[in-house]
Amino acid sequence: MLKTVIYGNIIISEIVKEFIEKKYNKEALAAGGEEMAVEYFAGDILRGQEPSVPLLSGSELLQKLHNNDIQILIVPKECAMGGFSLPWTLFSNGISLENLYFADRLSKMETTDSIEILDYFTPFFETKYLGYLEFHVADHCNLNCKACEHYSGLVKEEVYPDYDKFEKDFTKFHNLIDDIGVLRILGGEPLMNKDINKYMKLARSLYPDARIYVVTNGVLLKAMPEEFYKVMAEENIVLSISFYPPMKDTMPEVLKLLDEKKVNYTLTPLNTEFGKKQILEPQSDDETIMAFYKCSQKMCNNFYDGKVAACFLPFTTKYFNEYFDKDLPEDGAIDIYELGMNTRRLKERLLYPFLRCRYCSTETEMIPWDVMHNPSVLEDWIKA
Ligand code: SF4
Ligand code: SF4
Repeated sequence: MLKTVIYGNIIISEIVKEFIEKKYNKEALAAGGEEMAVEYFAGDILRGQEPSVPLLSGSELLQKLHNNDIQILIVPKECAMGGFSLPWTLFSNGISLENLYFADRLSKMETTDSIEILDYFTPFFETKYLGYLEFHVADHCNLNCKACEHYSGLVKEEVYPDYDKFEKDFTKFHNLIDDIGVLRILGGEPLMNKDINKYMKLARSLYPDARIYVVTNGVLLKAMPEEFYKVMAEENIVLSISFYPPMKDTMPEVLKLLDEKKVNYTLTPLNTEFGKKQILEPQSDDETIMAFYKCSQKMCNNFYDGKVAACFLPFTTKYFNEYFDKDLPEDGAIDIYELGMNTRRLKERLLYPFLRCRYCSTETEMIPWDVMHNPSVLEDWIKA
């Protein structure tokens, strides 16, 4: 029996456990393999929910993996979306990811086909799944916030991807990653792109199971054509509105309009502060490693011009360098057309820090939200 832990939400973990006990183990034995014994859960505790097996804390899980007390660690895809950081936590603690498996989506559990039942659990590195991906459809923005993490205010002219090239690249990327948890279409300000409907349709056609969001500051929402809202509804795409002070007076009207149109949206609290963590002096190797593994943006996997990176900075640092005549590293991008590129290589490379991380401090300086100076000054971006 393979000692197994299921990681994630307990309700989903119970469903996966039952699948293992009632369906998977029979097929595994029939195919000459070994059964799994689910001995623990690890992850979220829901009030009033009594797990059917003991629940491990994060440190207990790491300890058991270190001691080889566990042979299989399973994460249901539904529990590996957005800020899913477990692979980086294990990797940075020296724990091999070879025992980490994904359970496919719950909707795929209904099958009675033996092969599909056995394929329900797949190794982390081989599974063509990412919990999160984002892509820009405009690099510039109409708000130009100081310390915008994507440097949108430093983009001197309108910059949009070429749709045909994007479609070709994204279709190629789909060969490496064919399922995504959360997919965010953003920028800059994505509603400035007249082809936004085409990007939404493409994203949905390639990733039918993803939660897809268009992330906007909301400035253009009242002016968007009816077709935009129609495509959003047809493709089951959610608006994710980031709320900034210039929209304080008009946001109630915008929300009224969205409610009338029955648009599915989320709204952040009013952002009155921004964080700055960029520095101009490189950190040491140890500090850089710590900066990367502590950094929440390392999971903001960004797809840009046929390349993928852990975060957006490999693609947007060029704007900072051009504007201020600096030479911060623009590395960290993984070319999907590179010879021999495959899912395992891509996922392995996303686990490592890169040179640009040397310039991200582990400390963040909070500043009041404001637009950047015009022309911009270094102080708009660099931590004091
Ligand atoms: S609204 Fe968002 S993308 Fe635009 S400048 Fe501000 S932080 Fe950047
Ligand atoms: S460059 Fe590295 S440390 Fe900086 S935000 Fe990106 S992943 Fe994080």
